[in-house]
Amino acid sequence: MFELNDRVALVTGGSRGIGRACAEALAGAGAFVVVNYRSGEAAAAETVAAIEAAGGHAQAMGFDVAVMDQVADAVSAIVKQHGRLDILVSNAGISIDQLLLRVKPEEVSRTFATNVEGAIWCAKAAIRPMMRKRWGRIIHISSVVGETGNPGQAVYSASKAALIGLTKTLAREYASRGVTVNAVAPGYIETDMTGALNEEVRQAIVDQTPLGRVGRPDEIASAVLYLASSEAGYVTGQVLRVNGGMYI
Ligand code: NDP
Repeated sequence: MFELNDRVALVTGGSRGIGRACAEALAGAGAFVVVNYRSGEAAAAETVAAIEAAGGHAQAMGFDVAVMDQVADAVSAIVKQHGRLDILVSNAGISIDQLLLRVKPEEVSRTFATNVEGAIWCAKAAIRPMMRKRWGRIIHISSVVGETGNPGQAVYSASKAALIGLTKTLAREYASRGVTVNAVAPGYIETDMTGALNEEVRQAIVDQTPLGRVGRPDEIASAVLYLASSEAGYVTGQVLRVNGGMYI
């Protein structure tokens, strides 16, 4: 339905889970997709192979979103090779779940370095090439818990709420340059991140979800694809909630 021919996209944490589904959806619509990973080279290669098998175009690129210079170098390399970067999906994220009283400083730093600073460094590097073309799409993957909070996820929730502030501010800063900035806030989605939840917790989540099930990565990717499209050109600074009705 949405057409992204000639667009170049970067999906951080595109090797697995939601990021992989986003990479596949964008490539399926015709974009060339750079699939970022931090350590999972084989998983990223699998994502690229799946995209190519479906007739799309992609390449894997390893870098740590938490390290500003690595991000800047990666974006420069993409622009040098392709002449543009039109779409950034800041999806890379980690979750270290812990009651506040047990949280260690290192866990706070690591979570914020990846989830928040990572998105900041990526947006900072991507904005210039987008402004040059007077067209760009930045999509942050936040979370339902960034809006509702969740016991045991104080640090993670704070990092995901921060992405909403970042989204709204960048939307205001770069609207006049043709760059839209939005967030997608998923509910509970079946991936490695949630795979560790026991059956009781999982059932409790389903019980709180009007649609009566957990979500799939492709259901987040559909929202990302829409926000990346030209059809979403009048949407900026928004949080699109894809959560089965868990938070209305
Ligand atoms: P996964 O744990 O399945 O995948 C995480 C991805 O992020 C991997 O590709 C991983 O690459 C990459 N990554 C992690 N740290 C870095 C880093 N420093 N630099 C580059 N890449 C990195 O996560 P999900 O697919 O479940 O989640 C994706 C996003 O969606 C996250 O931001 C998460 O917070 C958010 N989200 C997820 C929900 C869910 O229910 N699953 C709900 C709401 C939000 P590698 O393997 O190489 O480390």
